[in-house]
Amino acid sequence: MACDIADTYPDKRLTLIHPHDRILPLFKPFLHEQATRRLKELGVEVIMGDRVILPASGRPGETDASMEHVGPTVTRTYGGRSIEADLRIFATGQRPNTQLMRDFLPGVVKPNGLVAIQRTLQVDDDRHANVYAVGDCADQFGAIQAGHTGWNAAGIAAENIVKQIEAAASGDKLSAPALTLYEPTKPCIGRARSCR
Ligand SMILES: Cc1cc2nc3c(=O)[nH]c(=O)nc-3n(C[C@H](O)[C@H](O)[C@H](O)COP(=O)(O)OP(=O)(O)OC[C@H]3O[C@@H](n4cnc5c(N)ncnc54)[C@H](O)[C@@H]3O)c2cc1C
Repeated sequence: MACDIADTYPDKRLTLIHPHDRILPLFKPFLHEQATRRLKELGVEVIMGDRVILPASGRPGETDASMEHVGPTVTRTYGGRSIEADLRIFATGQRPNTQLMRDFLPGVVKPNGLVAIQRTLQVDDDRHANVYAVGDCADQFGAIQAGHTGWNAAGIAAENIVKQIEAAASGDKLSAPALTLYEPTKPCIGRARSCR
């Protein structure tokens, strides 16, 4: 996002604050090197190993929307920095809204708010074999929350739903259909327009 903003608005001053020693820590170090090189080329100031002070009430967006800020603001870090900016964007991840499932089947919503599923992508409650969860809302065995992850899982869920419908239509009530099992795909990332 920082690269895209810098590429689109080359006259803007941009600062990226990252708490770890590597950008995109879930990926191979090569990606960090490439991203850092490009950020540097685009003139983005990159601060690694420092953390933004969040409101005591919790994560931004969840309990305190004020951290996402349009208009002049000062961002302070635990490292003692004060950074003035006209716009502040938090890119600390999103939390899916699983309230629907919490109302319907509270037992399958984990403490982290994600829906517990089986390898078949059915929710982890055998009394509801016709309920599936895919995408960001589901705890997908370590798969990252990304469009391609949800896309892959959705294909398998659709396949399994069709198998269940066909089995039910055939009238064979004794043998459950052999459902396809989900294997998380490796994290991958698309190239933004600013990646060159
Ligand atoms: C800034 C940003 C950049 C990203 N870039 C990439 C990228 O480059 N590549 C990539 O693969 N992924 C990327 N992602 C992640 C990707 O967008 C998500 O992983 C993906 O959209 C998840 O799809 P989903 O269908 O599970 O959830 P969502 O796309 O979040 O869809 C869930 C939908 O359910 C709706 N909803 C919630 N509750 C209810 C309810 N009770 N009734 C009806 N509807 C409800 C929500 O409003 C929402 O529209 C990015 C995400 C962000 C935020």
